Amino acid sequence: MSTEKDNGGKDERDVRFPPLIPHTDVKGEDFVDLGTTPLAKQLGLSPEQTNGHWCSRCRGIWFGYTLETQCPVCGNRRG
Ligand SMILES: [Zn+2]
Repeated sequence: MSTEKDNGGKDERDVRFPPLIPHTDVKGEDFVDLGTTPLAKQLGLSPEQTNGHWCSRCRGIWFGYTLETQCPVCGNRRG
């Protein structure tokens, strides 16, 4: 009986990230800086490793991990 299924080693990261605003593109623009998300801080991301996310409710940009979608200020997830 050798029907061991070994899926533990497979970790294919072929995820297509949604288009986001590069951090460098928003520098110098007139926007409200909503800060960095707790997750990005927890991960120890540098500003270059975060992505800017527009929040229409706050009318500003917050910076966080690429896959984050929720504004850390108001909780808006719709951008
Ligand atoms: Zn917001």
